[in-house]
Amino acid sequence: MQDCDYQNTRLTHLGRDTSVSAGFVNVPVCRGSTILADNLEQWAQRKEPDNPYASYGRFTNPTLQTLTQAVAELEGGFQASLFPSGLAACTHALLGMLEVGDHLLIPDSVYGPVRAFAQQVLASRMGIQVQFYEPSLAEGIASLIRPNTKVVYVESPGSATFEIQDIPAIARCAHAVGAYVLLDNTWATPLFFKPFEHGVDVSIQAATKYLTGHSDALLGIATANERAWPLLRRAAHDFGQTAGPDDAFLALRGMRTLGVRLRQHQASALHIARFLENHPQVQQVLHPALESHPGHAIWKRDFTGSTGLFGVVLEPLSEAQLSRFFKTLRLFGIGLSWGGFESLALPMDMPKRNGRTLFGEGRLLRLHVGLEEPQHLQQDLAQALDAAYALNTSRNTSGLRLVAQQA
Ligand SMILES: *Cc1c(COP(=O)(O)O)cnc(C)c1O
Repeated sequence: MQDCDYQNTRLTHLGRDTSVSAGFVNVPVCRGSTILADNLEQWAQRKEPDNPYASYGRFTNPTLQTLTQAVAELEGGFQASLFPSGLAACTHALLGMLEVGDHLLIPDSVYGPVRAFAQQVLASRMGIQVQFYEPSLAEGIASLIRPNTKVVYVESPGSATFEIQDIPAIARCAHAVGAYVLLDNTWATPLFFKPFEHGVDVSIQAATKYLTGHSDALLGIATANERAWPLLRRAAHDFGQTAGPDDAFLALRGMRTLGVRLRQHQASALHIARFLENHPQVQQVLHPALESHPGHAIWKRDFTGSTGLFGVVLEPLSEAQLSRFFKTLRLFGIGLSWGGFESLALPMDMPKRNGRTLFGEGRLLRLHVGLEEPQHLQQDLAQALDAAYALNTSRNTSGLRLVAQQA
């Protein structure tokens, strides 16, 4: 927790160069493609690779640069690149590091679209050896690493299953063969996990989520250390990746309140997670800050906080009961994405591991706990669970366990 308070102060003050904003508190939205030079000598300087002033709007502009510098500082990395979505940041970071014939290790708990990209593009079309690994592997990953392993991808906690990974141990094994460690740090944000202190080489934010924080933009940011930066920058440039200045502005505006928002998401989500953990219709709550979570010890060692997204495995229920549950919810919306101010709930496909379904007969939901009053969210879930399990299921639910109605 050493630097949480310090981080809040930095969130307020970083990225406020008044020479860029002409004295205004906020850097303006800089729109544009052409950047004029005063003379040929200045033009030649602009085109030098390390010149801080871009020669063209696709490479950066004052709004975009304010954001990349701020995020690079928060993550603790060297420099950052912007992408039009979180997924684009993940895929282009991978493209930047990998060549034909390289071996890539990806955890089984990875965000679904990254899994699809690895299989459908990297493996099928680009000749990269893609191997999925059990996310709980720590030093054990050494046995999977090959001389041509170029990237070990990590995501902690993983999407859908919320498994925590031992990133420092994985990074030690990866670095032994010179591989890069790429992290999807969207869940923790740089406030609650410092990737570069734990051996990560590239840290990716779906800024769409908490950084922007208001469900009003799509944006990705990848931050690299000095070793990985030339490859990341080249990938962004070669593929023509950039982001719109309005979205970057929204991310900067969201960033100012990231600390206070996360404080509330954390407290409210823990309140709801503990309520659900004691609910008779709940089999399991997948939240790494709960003592019951299998990755709790590693989470406590490496992270300085938890956020608003977690999983809950309900006792078996029919489609009709599930439908009743969602129809009865009043405060939780049904929808993709998360990290905004609003609460969301979504049924998830039951995750598979080596052909076996995890969590048996239960039903996995993903909850994002927003900024509503936690007591109201608890009441909302309680009444929806009551309504769902009260529904008569004696017909067409053969094989389902009958559960007692909550008192
Ligand atoms: C949402 C998400 C992404 C992708 O972000 P988009 O901006 O929606 O493309 C990547 N990783 C994780 C863990 C996410 O939850």
